Amino acid sequence: MSPAHREGRPLRVGMLGGTFDPVHNGHLRSAIEVREALGLDTLHMVPAPQPPLRDTPQVSATQRLALLTAGIGNTPGLLADDRELHRKGPSYSVDTLVELRQQYGDDVPLVMVIGFDAFLRLAKWHRAEQLFELAHLVVIARPGYQSPWPTPLKELVGDRAVDSVALLMQHTRGRVLMLELPSLMAISATYIRQRLSDGKSVRYLVPEAVEQAIFRQGLYQSSE
Ligand code: ATP
Repeated sequence: MSPAHREGRPLRVGMLGGTFDPVHNGHLRSAIEVREALGLDTLHMVPAPQPPLRDTPQVSATQRLALLTAGIGNTPGLLADDRELHRKGPSYSVDTLVELRQQYGDDVPLVMVIGFDAFLRLAKWHRAEQLFELAHLVVIARPGYQSPWPTPLKELVGDRAVDSVALLMQHTRGRVLMLELPSLMAISATYIRQRLSDGKSVRYLVPEAVEQAIFRQGLYQSSE
C-alpha cells in the first residue's frame, strides 16, 4: 500500500496519550510545539480510561475527554481521540499504536510523544519492546524532571537514539529523539487538582473553556 500523502509528502502522525486529569496548558502548548517541531499533520491526544501504572482517576474518562475536547477547541492539527474509551481493560499505548497503524498504513512515520517523567518508567510499560516496532518515540523535556536513565530503560532504548528530526523522519518507526521544546511549562495535572481542591485559581494554567467546564460541573473541588 502506498503511504497516505498530504501536499506531495507522506503524512506524519503523532500520538500523545495521557490521563488528562484534567488537560492543562502544559499538555496543549507542548502538543502545538511538538507538532510544529516534527511537522506532524495530526497529533492524536488520547485519554486513558484506566491508566495501567496509576490509580483510576476520580473524574470519568468521558468527562476528561470532554475537557480535552473543550481545551483543544479549534486548534489546528490537534485531535481529541476517544478510541481508548471503546476498549475494555487497562489502556495500553501499544494497542492504540496498533490501531493507528491500521488506520494510516505501514508506510507513514508514526510518533509516540511522551514527557520525560513518563519516559523514565517506559521499561515497565506493557509490551514496551513492541512500541518501537510500531512507532518512533519522541521524549519531551519537562521542568523539574532530570534524572539519569535507569538501566532497564538504557537497555530498552539501545542504539535507537537519533539527534535530529530529519534523521527520525528517514524512517517510519523505531527511533528515539529527545526534544526540548521552546516553552517549557512547569504545570502538572496534580498541581491543578490540588489548587482546585484548595479553592485556588487555575486561571491561565488551563484554557478558559476548561476552567469554565470544571466549575460548571463542580469537578475537582473538595466537597467541604
Ligand atoms: P499528573 O500530575 O496527574 O501525573 P500530568 O500533568 O503528568 O498528570 P498526564 O496526563 O499524566 O499529565 O500526561 C500526559 C503526557 O503529557 C505525559 O507523557 C506527560 O509526561 C506529558 N506532560 C504532562 N504535562 C507536561 C508538561 N507540563 N510539559 C511537558 N509534557 C507534559
